[in-house]
Amino acid sequence: LGDTIHANLAATVARFGDREALVDKATGRRWTYAELSSEVDRAAAGLHALGVRKGDRVGIWAPNCAEWVFVQYATARIGAILVNVNPAYRVHELEYVLNQAGIHTLVSARSFKTSDYAAMIEEVRPRCPELEHVVFTDDPQWTPGELPDVELDRDDPINIQYTSGTTGFPKGATLSHHNILNNGYFVGELINYTEHDRICVVPPFYHCFGMVMGNLAATSHGACVVIPAPAFDPAKTLAAVQEEKCTSLYGVPTMFIAMLDLVDGYDLSSLRTGIMAGSPCPVEVMKQVVERMGMSEVSICYGMTETSPVSTQTRVDDSLDRRVGTVGRVGPHLEVKIVDPETGLTVPRGEPGELCTRGYSVMLGYWNEPEKTAEAVDGAGWMHTGDLAVMDDDEYVNITGRIKDMVIRGGENIYPREIEEFLYTHPDVLDAQVIGVPDARYGEELMAWVRLRDGVCGLTAEAVREFCTGKLAHYKIPRYVHVVEEFPMTVTGKIRKVEMRAKSVELLNLDDSA
Ligand code: ATP
Ligand code: MG
Repeated sequence: LGDTIHANLAATVARFGDREALVDKATGRRWTYAELSSEVDRAAAGLHALGVRKGDRVGIWAPNCAEWVFVQYATARIGAILVNVNPAYRVHELEYVLNQAGIHTLVSARSFKTSDYAAMIEEVRPRCPELEHVVFTDDPQWTPGELPDVELDRDDPINIQYTSGTTGFPKGATLSHHNILNNGYFVGELINYTEHDRICVVPPFYHCFGMVMGNLAATSHGACVVIPAPAFDPAKTLAAVQEEKCTSLYGVPTMFIAMLDLVDGYDLSSLRTGIMAGSPCPVEVMKQVVERMGMSEVSICYGMTETSPVSTQTRVDDSLDRRVGTVGRVGPHLEVKIVDPETGLTVPRGEPGELCTRGYSVMLGYWNEPEKTAEAVDGAGWMHTGDLAVMDDDEYVNITGRIKDMVIRGGENIYPREIEEFLYTHPDVLDAQVIGVPDARYGEELMAWVRLRDGVCGLTAEAVREFCTGKLAHYKIPRYVHVVEEFPMTVTGKIRKVEMRAKSVELLNLDDSA
């Protein structure tokens, strides 16, 4: 296997040239590794003809489609830096990313050409001085041209991926060949991928879950990627698994929940493994994925954009208990430690602290943000994840929340997730999120935002407090309760507690003045 993305693809083409590499169910088209490699060369020559040179940023703004994969490998072929642009972005975010990353060429999808996406591009273009070209995947630029000889090094930056923006504005994690190629390889290694595996990749390619854990894991092991649809569709996904005899299926827990509703009509007997990641997975969902979808070797991963992404993973032979209660153990050639965020010292086993990780996966840095990089990665190379975790005696890790979400009320550290899980047990509560709001007396006070079950018309703070009394320590009982229809979310479906806090401060001020 090569040590750059291009060398790695070339090695796989040499070993498995006539094996299937890619299937795009939306168009019904399929490519062997040899055919994929020709498409990649064509796209690389097309980008070169547009003046894209090593180190230039090429943005890709498209839903999941075969062309996304061609552009991913084409940029790596000529040493250009691929910038993943989230298809859910709108004008404001698009303009930010185009300028923040200094994108030279933006590639967009045929399906975006006649839609409001094209209009958004035109709207922001005059405000993006570095943007030279916008091309769509069916433009004539993608005709054969001259392929340059480019010297590539495994430590060159090759990809900028923006974080989800859960705790603030998205940051552009700059990743090298070495970062993401190894992560894709090891993720696949731990679920025993071979050239016989067929991976149904549902998560978006703009996210590392699709692009690294899907595409790069497949290429490193000679496996095939099946794209069931441009965006998540539970019925199309199950149909693709059945028709293409997929052995592996990826998704975030909510995607699996949607698929479990429909599962009975499909033959999923080809499924062996898969990955569930991104947020904590309920026990019952995990059990059903194993029993009803046949994914007996399903794996849970934990990671972040800045670490290419995976840091810990459950192994295929871990017990079900390990797979529901934990995010597994640290991956090969990586280190994990749990430290006291105040002192930086490693905490005793079983006690909570900040998870830090070190090794090949840690990003080169945030693009053009040296101060933020220095805050996140210390001088010894440890990435401070901002996540709270506990490690048990057998080295299994459990993620308990984010440091930024921890509430300190009158000197007591409170982990909102504990209270959220308790509130779920209230019969009227569908979903609950707990935050800290400023308080003159205690520093912070707890506030719960709740979504109610269908048919329930209201829930007072008194009723919630009464429910908690005697079951939670007094300082963990929310002082304020706010009933909502929806929580503020990021485009990747994570709850934005920063926004909840800002809105709560406004709301409570309104209450004060009333
Ligand atoms: P931002 O950094 O912009 O605030 P973000 O951290 O949500 O956004 P990502 O890099 O997409 O952006 O997400 C990484 C985070 O997702 C981790 O730091 C962790 O909080 C959470 N996460 C990832 N996998 C899991 C998992 N298996 N269980 C629990 N939390 C997870
Ligand atoms: Mg983050």
